[in-house]
Amino acid sequence: MRLLLVEDEGKVASHIKRGLEQEGYAVDVVDDGEEALGMASVYQYDLIILDIMLPKKNGTQVLKELRDKRHYTPVIFLTAKNSTEEKILGLDLGADDYLTKPFEFEELCARIRAILRRHESVRDTKLTLSDLELNLVTHEVKRAGQKIDLTPKEYTLLEYLLYNQGKVLTRTMIVEHVWDQDFDSFTNVVDVYINHLRVKIDQPFEKKLLHTARGYGYVLREGDAADKD
Ligand code: CA
Repeated sequence: MRLLLVEDEGKVASHIKRGLEQEGYAVDVVDDGEEALGMASVYQYDLIILDIMLPKKNGTQVLKELRDKRHYTPVIFLTAKNSTEEKILGLDLGADDYLTKPFEFEELCARIRAILRRHESVRDTKLTLSDLELNLVTHEVKRAGQKIDLTPKEYTLLEYLLYNQGKVLTRTMIVEHVWDQDFDSFTNVVDVYINHLRVKIDQPFEKKLLHTARGYGYVLREGDAADKD
């Protein structure tokens, strides 16, 4: 999952970015409201963490403009003071949740998971397909009860595929949700990571879950032999 963090306090921003990356998210950071709107119009973020007090345009303006443009990406806003009016305004403008600064990083993670959990393929804290399961809290991945060790990027890729199971995902979609803006789009890194993942989640097992959709991209689903590549 790829997140946009809009926060003008450099130290806070880099602390949150580092923590979220350790949790397996791809994270872009911008430090003013105008840049936030620019990034949100270019990339399909899975979630936006939006500070209220920002240079150029504040968080509530950003949120209003996003919703006016029918951008329905989930938003968690960060409010510095315990201002009830600010919270009400943010929620009424279409934010999904808020956090009052200072907050515990673990609480931010739990709120992100709670929002992403509204997705249909999530049950409690797990994403599952057939005998494959990914635990969103512990980051443990298992197939047929066997633990599978994944690198952080392989984990993020599998998480994205599981959220979108049954749908054909193009390389562009995968890049946009799994890598951040520093990604070099001229490499074949998606295919390389898909192959790494295949070796770990599919190769030792009879039933294959990760399929190539020729000319399009990849799909994670329970397919029969006819669908196999
Ligand atoms: Ca701020």
